[in-house]
Amino acid sequence: MGDYFQTIVDLDASPEEAAAYADRGLAWLLSEGMVLPDRTDCVLGAPLGHPPGPNWAGVCGPEDASWEPGGGLDVQVGRTVFSAGQGEPEAVTCPRCEATTRLITDTWQSDDEAWEPFGAALRTWDEEGEADVVCPACAASVPLPEYRWADDFFAFAHLGFEFWNWPHFSDEFLTRFADVFEGHRTVRVWGKL
Ligand SMILES: [Zn+2]
Repeated sequence: MGDYFQTIVDLDASPEEAAAYADRGLAWLLSEGMVLPDRTDCVLGAPLGHPPGPNWAGVCGPEDASWEPGGGLDVQVGRTVFSAGQGEPEAVTCPRCEATTRLITDTWQSDDEAWEPFGAALRTWDEEGEADVVCPACAASVPLPEYRWADDFFAFAHLGFEFWNWPHFSDEFLTRFADVFEGHRTVRVWGKL
């Protein structure tokens, strides 16, 4: 069945701000009783995470409230390519001209030619924290983090709250949690490992 993660990414926290917003987000989750303060071995990819708190069901709708979380929360601070993990990104949309570029072929194979400039920019951003991609439709040079990905496949950011094996987050929870970040844009990147 694999492990299911949902990561709420703050798209607007700068490298300098990320730690402060991490503290703010965690404080809110603790105050709501959704996670516990003392970290344990409950997440993948990190030694320790925050286990679910008594009010964990506040993250989901009543239809999912019997799905007790099977893991905890890893707060990730620092430049990160947040990714849905398995499979390929299907498409990417330019924020300037709104044109969508398909990144897979009709037979669901990766379209290497379409992907190449994005893949190169992804590696550059991962190493240097900045990268532009020339939009194939309008030829504008656009910073990689500004592109929108189908199914929120990628997010390029400095702060993420990664929950392992939690029930599907409700829109209400996502909205309430996003409010903690004072108008920053947030996105939910999810996938299975
Ligand atoms: Zn464009």
